[in-house]
Amino acid sequence: MRKIITIVGARPQFVKAAAVSRAIAKTSIKEVLVHTGQHFDKNMSDVFFEEMEIPVPNYNLDIHSLSHGAMTGRMIEKIEEILLVEKPDGLMVYGDTNSTLAGAIAASKLHIPIIHVEAGLRSFNMMMPEEVNRILTDRISSLLFCPTDAAISNLKREGFDGYGAKVVKNGDVMQDAALFYAARSAAKSRIISDLGLESGFVLATLHRQENTDDPQKLRSIINGLNAVNREARVVVPLHPRTRSILAKQGINPEFDVVDPVGYFDMVELLKHCSLVVTDSGGVQKEAFFFRKPCITVREQTEWVELVDGGFNTLVGADTNLLISAFNQAKNKKCNFDVNLYGNGVASQIVAQEIEAF
Ligand code: UDP
Repeated sequence: MRKIITIVGARPQFVKAAAVSRAIAKTSIKEVLVHTGQHFDKNMSDVFFEEMEIPVPNYNLDIHSLSHGAMTGRMIEKIEEILLVEKPDGLMVYGDTNSTLAGAIAASKLHIPIIHVEAGLRSFNMMMPEEVNRILTDRISSLLFCPTDAAISNLKREGFDGYGAKVVKNGDVMQDAALFYAARSAAKSRIISDLGLESGFVLATLHRQENTDDPQKLRSIINGLNAVNREARVVVPLHPRTRSILAKQGINPEFDVVDPVGYFDMVELLKHCSLVVTDSGGVQKEAFFFRKPCITVREQTEWVELVDGGFNTLVGADTNLLISAFNQAKNKKCNFDVNLYGNGVASQIVAQEIEAF
C-alpha cells in the first residue's frame, strides 16, 4: 500500500498512533490522519498530540458528546466523504471505540481494505459497546494485527482461517509507546513532586461505562478505593465523564482526584506507584510494562495472560474483593521478566506489513 487513512478519536488511540505513525513515517507509505473528535478536551486530546509528537491530523471531524448511534452514524458519513476525496489504498483503525467501527464501516462500503491494529481481543461480554465494536471491525478487516496468542486463538475460533484475511501477531504497540516515552518522561514531567507523592502510592483510573453508568457499582468501587486510601495514598487522574457522574450522584471520594494527565505524567505515575487499580484496557498492560501489580475493577478482561500470570486480579465492582486484593498485593512478588507483548517492535511490524500488503 502507498497511501492509508488512519482514524483516531479517543485517548488510547492517540497513544497507539504515537507509536505506529512514527514507524510509518520511516516507510514509503503516505499516512493521512483523521481525528473524529470523539475525545476533544485539551487534556484528553491536544496534550497527546503535542507531547507525543503525533502528526497534526489532516482532518478533524469534531464529532462528540452524542449517543452511540448518533456519534457512529455521523462519523461514518464524514469519513466516507474523506475516503471519496482521498482514495486511499487502505484504512487503518485502532482498538474498539465508536471511531474504530465508524471508520471500518465507511471503508467496507467502498471496498477499501481495512487494517485493524489490536485485533482479536475479546471480553466475551456483549453488553460492552467495545466488544461489539471490535467483533464487527475484525470481521470486515483484511489485515489484522493481534497483540497476543489469546487474540490469535480468538480469531481462529471465530473462523478467520476461512475468511481470506491476513492475521499477523505483531505484539503490543502500546508497549512500544511505553518504552519510547519512558526514556523521556522524567525530563518532561513534574507530577511526582507537584503532587508531593512518596513511594507506596496507588494509581487508579476509572471510566468504563459498565462501572460509571451503574450507580451501585460506582459507589462500591469508590468505597473500595476510599478504604485503600486509609492505608496507602490513592491518586486518580479522573476521566471527565466519571467526574460529572460522581458529582451528579453526590459521591465524594476521600482520595486524591486530579484532572486527566498527559502521557509523560502518566508514565511517571506508573513508574513511581506501588500498585495500579483500573478498569482501563490500556492501563492494565501499562501496569505490567512498569512492573506493577494490577487490580482490575471489571468482571472480565481482554488481557487474560495478565490474570493467568498472576500480574492482574479481577475483582469486579466488589468493595470487599478490592480491599482483599489490595491486602494480598502488598506481599505479592511477581516475576515481570516474561515476554507477553513482543519485543518493542510491534509498530515496526505494522508499518512493514502495510507497505508490503
Ligand atoms: N492515560 C493518560 N492519562 C490519564 C489516563 C490515562 O495518559 O489521565 C493513558 C493511559 O496511560 C493509556 C491510555 O491513556 O495509555 C488508556 O486510555 P483509556 O484508559 O482512556 O482507554 P482504554 O485503554 O480503557 O481503552
